[in-house]
Amino acid sequence: MRDLLGGKGAGLAEMTRAGLPVPPGFTITTETCLAYFDSGGHLPPGLGDEVRAAMDELESRTGKQFGVAANPLLVSVRSGARVSMPGMMDTILNLGLNDETVAGLARLTSNERFAYDAYRRFMAMFGNVVLGIEKDQFDRVVDEAKQKAGVATDPELTADRWKEVIAQFREIVRIHTGAPFPQDVHEQLELAIEAVFDSWNSKRAIDYRKYNKIPDDWGTAVSVCSMVFGNLGDDSGTGVAFTRDPNTGEKLLFGEYLRNAQGEDVVAGIRTPMKIADLQNSQPDVYAQFVAIAHQLETHYKDMQDLEFTVERGKLWMLQTRSGKRSAEAAVKIALDLARDGLITQNDAVARVDAASLDQLFHARIDPNEQFEVAGVGLNASPGAATGQVVFDADTAAERGAKGESVILVRVETAPDDVHGMIAAKGVLTSRGGATSHAAVVARGMGRPCVAGFDAMTIDGRAKTATIGTHVLHEGDWITIDGTTGKVVVGKLTLIPPPSQPPEWLASFLGWADAAARMEVWANADTPDDAQRARDLGATGIGLCRTEHMFMQKERLPVVQRMIISDTPQARAKALAQLLPFQKDDFAGILAAMAGYPVTIRLLDPPLHEFLPSLEQLLVETTELRITKGESDPVYVEKMRVLGRVRALHEQNPMLGLRVCRLGIVYPEIYAMQVRAIFEASCELRARGVDARPDVMIPGVGTREEMQTTYDAVKSVADEVILAHGTPVPYRIGTMIELPRACVVAGELASIAQFFSFGTNDLTQTTYGYSRDDAESSFIPRYLEKKILKDDPFQVLDRVGVGGLMRLGVERGRAARGDLKIGICGEHGGEPSSVAFCNELGLDYVSCSPYRVPIARLAAAQAAL
Ligand code: ADP
Ligand code: MG
Ligand code: MG
Repeated sequence: MRDLLGGKGAGLAEMTRAGLPVPPGFTITTETCLAYFDSGGHLPPGLGDEVRAAMDELESRTGKQFGVAANPLLVSVRSGARVSMPGMMDTILNLGLNDETVAGLARLTSNERFAYDAYRRFMAMFGNVVLGIEKDQFDRVVDEAKQKAGVATDPELTADRWKEVIAQFREIVRIHTGAPFPQDVHEQLELAIEAVFDSWNSKRAIDYRKYNKIPDDWGTAVSVCSMVFGNLGDDSGTGVAFTRDPNTGEKLLFGEYLRNAQGEDVVAGIRTPMKIADLQNSQPDVYAQFVAIAHQLETHYKDMQDLEFTVERGKLWMLQTRSGKRSAEAAVKIALDLARDGLITQNDAVARVDAASLDQLFHARIDPNEQFEVAGVGLNASPGAATGQVVFDADTAAERGAKGESVILVRVETAPDDVHGMIAAKGVLTSRGGATSHAAVVARGMGRPCVAGFDAMTIDGRAKTATIGTHVLHEGDWITIDGTTGKVVVGKLTLIPPPSQPPEWLASFLGWADAAARMEVWANADTPDDAQRARDLGATGIGLCRTEHMFMQKERLPVVQRMIISDTPQARAKALAQLLPFQKDDFAGILAAMAGYPVTIRLLDPPLHEFLPSLEQLLVETTELRITKGESDPVYVEKMRVLGRVRALHEQNPMLGLRVCRLGIVYPEIYAMQVRAIFEASCELRARGVDARPDVMIPGVGTREEMQTTYDAVKSVADEVILAHGTPVPYRIGTMIELPRACVVAGELASIAQFFSFGTNDLTQTTYGYSRDDAESSFIPRYLEKKILKDDPFQVLDRVGVGGLMRLGVERGRAARGDLKIGICGEHGGEPSSVAFCNELGLDYVSCSPYRVPIARLAAAQAAL
């Protein structure tokens, strides 16, 4: 019925059928609307007769007559699409009034003020919606009338004042259209129906549909409904109510009621309405009846309802019912309650909540009571709000963060060697870069709020200032960012912190989701804290533990650099031996936090030069040293040696150079150290009774030989450590699938590898041949605009190309090894539509950042239902 009658028409029909008090009316279908558009704006033949017949029926049901002064029938002409588009289309009230019927209405109700108030409302609405006269013109006349009469609100104006207003309205209409205000009520009705159809194609309705992905070819229905009057005195009124609190989901009637008023007054905010519960004191019978109806409707629709109603001289009339919009918290609690009350099943409850909306629940928010001015809006790159003092470099952020100070790292862009500063900061603000820039990706992974690409800000690195409009910020000045909305506010604001664990209600709900899901949800976590958080949020494994962040930490970086620039294998071995205990500690912490669940540790992945000082910086330093200290200075000599190594390691295209497994094959001692650290940690944990389950993942494999060489190397060190400790450790060796070639030769790889994990960030880069770091800020926005791309493939997994390769990889991999474990660990693993696709491919698990685990759990369940 909704498709044909629109949501509003269907709701009215359903309420009428259930015997509820609904003013009689009828609905013209969306099909009629489409026929009207098809014929270039002509109502289909025969419609006029049908409308007249329906109006006759209305007359006999109400005992009133359309256009007859003695007892005039008035109607509303209301828009209503298949899905609710609040405020986007038009509705006209009090239609059927003209110079004669208004007098009749006044006599009949013995309320002249009321009748002329209704008439002026109708003239303004009709004038605006049908005749296309600006609303302002009418409002101005009313404002002047109030001023002249010395009153503040509309109800205080007398009938005579309204008559003066109406005289002026007539003039406005005559000047604008060159004709008097239409007096023929049948003409009024026909014009109103056409205008409501036309409002489907108003600019605001089109924009709304585009934003909400609603098809343009649905059209709107028109409901014609006999009028009831909430503005007939103090025993009348109008209200809106939700059957539950739309913010918290609490089971109580939530809404507002305005005495002596007509529908649109409540929303317009002209007078302050009272709480719906107060109706209980003033009109207890009406209230009791409304409570019963609200309950009946909720039970009937098995969902929280958003209701509109009017009371006319003590009699209740229902005017609208629909499923109410709600916050994520309310959505979950309502679904839980409805299922517990037996109205819907557990699986219905799971299917109802928008998975992506759960994101709202795990981030700090700006206290809604705060008053503030927004300095500008950047890209909402990583959700959550953060407030802190501005710092301009990662080292200062790390230093002040370690002291427990709240800082926001403000930079043009971030790079891998800013990571320690990002960890220590409460949030990150950059003036450049898109949703997949380094800052955005890393911040999201760590759950740090981030606003990126905030180009209203200019940073002067030397002066250490950031300028946003008229604000000049220095280091230590307070700033607040909201990564959920992209807002930037100068100054300190109060925040509401996120829960560290899912509250009880969410845990139960996600438990239902897990019961419905086929795939498991794992997390990407690089530190023991993240691993613990992932467990708390319900991850049943770690799908990606990146080891390079461990190399980046401040006290380790010099050792890592020594390891890289060492000239002899002995020197390298010494540096590696120093790194080993660090790595072992990291792994022990993570494996312990995930005890009983698999932890997939990826061996070193990025090009080595990322750990070294930049060439430019070294050139500046060596030149300075040569001039000030001379060429024999030992510091200078050492720096020159470093410079030589950095030059030697320099690559034209490092992303395609000496990195991933290629690095591990050229410098086998690096991977050997990492594997030793993993298994020493595991053996020691197991010896203490902790169920450590390490899986070793080789990155960037493209050939069978790469897989075999690295597999053998890992296995020999692992088995050697296990043998030396005498403690068995179950483990697997697998590979990250992130090259198209790997998908094609997946059969060969799976004859060696025991698991696959699709690294869809890189697989998207290598399949499209786009550089992720560059594409976002240069051509992808243009591509989206020109519709060359439908979505950004780094955000929504490309099912055809990248997905096609994945399908190939799954089929060939499973053909070679029946029990091959397959997952995904790219950013897509926490994006609901990509999760659905992974389910379709038959993957065993998705892995995403800890804070996205609840979203992925729900998405995995919905994919399976
Ligand atoms: P919207 O879709 O913008 O809510 P509606 O068609 O529901 O538009 O109408 C706007 C307002 O007019 C509502 O508040 C409704 O309660 C009121 N209204 C609509 N039809 C009638 C009627 N027949 N009698 C009294 N009030 C009405
Ligand atoms: Mg409405
Ligand atoms: Mg990669």
